[in-house]
Amino acid sequence: MTTQATQLTPVLSATWRDDTPWRLDSYTRAGGYEALDKALGMQPDDLIQLVKDSGLRGRGGAGFPTGMKWGFIPQDNPKPKYLVVNADESEPGTCKDIPLMMASPHTLVEGVIISSYAIRANTAFIYIRGEVLHVVRRVQAAIAEAYAAGHLGKDIHGTGYDLDIVVHAGAGAYICGEETALLDSLEGRRGQPRLRPPFPAVAGLYASPTVINNVESIASVPCIVSNGAAWFSSMGTEKSKGMTLYSLSGHVERPGQYEAPLGITLRELLEMAGGVRAGHELKFWTPGGSSTPLLTAEHLDVPLDYEGVGAAGSMLGTKALQIFDETVCVVRAVLRWTEFYKHESCGKCTPCREGTWWLVQVLARLEKGIGTEDDLEQLLDQCDNILGRSFCALADGAVSPIASSIQFFRAEYLAHFERGGCPFDPVASTLFA
Ligand code: NAD
Repeated sequence: MTTQATQLTPVLSATWRDDTPWRLDSYTRAGGYEALDKALGMQPDDLIQLVKDSGLRGRGGAGFPTGMKWGFIPQDNPKPKYLVVNADESEPGTCKDIPLMMASPHTLVEGVIISSYAIRANTAFIYIRGEVLHVVRRVQAAIAEAYAAGHLGKDIHGTGYDLDIVVHAGAGAYICGEETALLDSLEGRRGQPRLRPPFPAVAGLYASPTVINNVESIASVPCIVSNGAAWFSSMGTEKSKGMTLYSLSGHVERPGQYEAPLGITLRELLEMAGGVRAGHELKFWTPGGSSTPLLTAEHLDVPLDYEGVGAAGSMLGTKALQIFDETVCVVRAVLRWTEFYKHESCGKCTPCREGTWWLVQVLARLEKGIGTEDDLEQLLDQCDNILGRSFCALADGAVSPIASSIQFFRAEYLAHFERGGCPFDPVASTLFA
């Protein structure tokens, strides 16, 4: 990361500490909707090229190039095109889209209008996680302001371009963050993943060409239009460009959202966040929520970009950095996450439906200290049999913390059998000491 690049941030969170950054007047005072004017003066294909040139990659977790995804929309297909914003943020530890929508909903709305214009969509949907009603209301209020100001609706800014945005509140299922399950849910069906291909870009909502992008990806578009592709790609690393929002949670002095260029390290982010809580030390952490393999204190200097985290054996994912200090039992933490995946499995495919259930059975035994080393091998075998064999990424996510925790903390698993209970549990420790 260069010093110059750090000076360019924050961008997305620049106004979050202002008085009422969610209101249209505040957003407009800060230059809001100027990018829209500029974009509407461009050809849609030039906008797609601009986003391609910027190097923006999807901020929902997978890091797929955004401009390339837009370019997949077949413009010779006579069906309507749709933009769908995935605002179903649910990955454990991930908390960046919700603060963005609360603090600066107009950044998202402006991004939706520009992106819809680029792919030639006249209807866009924002699918928001149902539990966060305050966010739904905040986004709806911003959309109402945008309609009233002529940024949405018919003949936007007198250009002849029409766009309507529909906000849809989900019903609180983690699986509906998976893009094709989200589409089923939006169409009024039970949210379950669809087989891909066809990818949504070819046959998505109502079997029409559909771009599905994460909130942060779409919110990054106005600043790219305003400042140019070269500005955006001057931040970050060779293949992971731009700035992004990291969520820091757990045993850290100042948890929250930190905006920085891709490629910053956890050591640097912890400095910004006041460090691991006083008197304690880092034991393990997740780079992208619980669906990504755990890392340890050895990985403090890994560049937090798609390639750097991948080379360290994990995934950048949603950039949800959950920090755990030495007081945490890794087996218990992993069991807790696995219970979440078991609960959220949609049941469509057997490896995930049955597999996550079995993972919980074995892990719970291990955590109670009534397992054996054979159980540990059986657990790894189950992980092997689930990874890459399920319909969507949910089950892959479930096995990631298990396999990596055994890789780094096998001795801690063994200590549970030796002690006949969790060594971190004060009651069990007294009983079995
Ligand atoms: P993916 O890599 O399969 O796809 C990424 C995107 O690229 C999708 O939109 C897909 O349609 C598109 N794409 C890929 N190949 C394509 C092709 N050949 N043609 C057209 N489009 C193509 O990843 P995924 O399964 O969509 O998502 C998995 C990610 O989701 C994980 O990395 C995880 O980090 C993340 N995740 C995020 C949350 C959250 O709350 N934000 C929750 C769970 C998981």
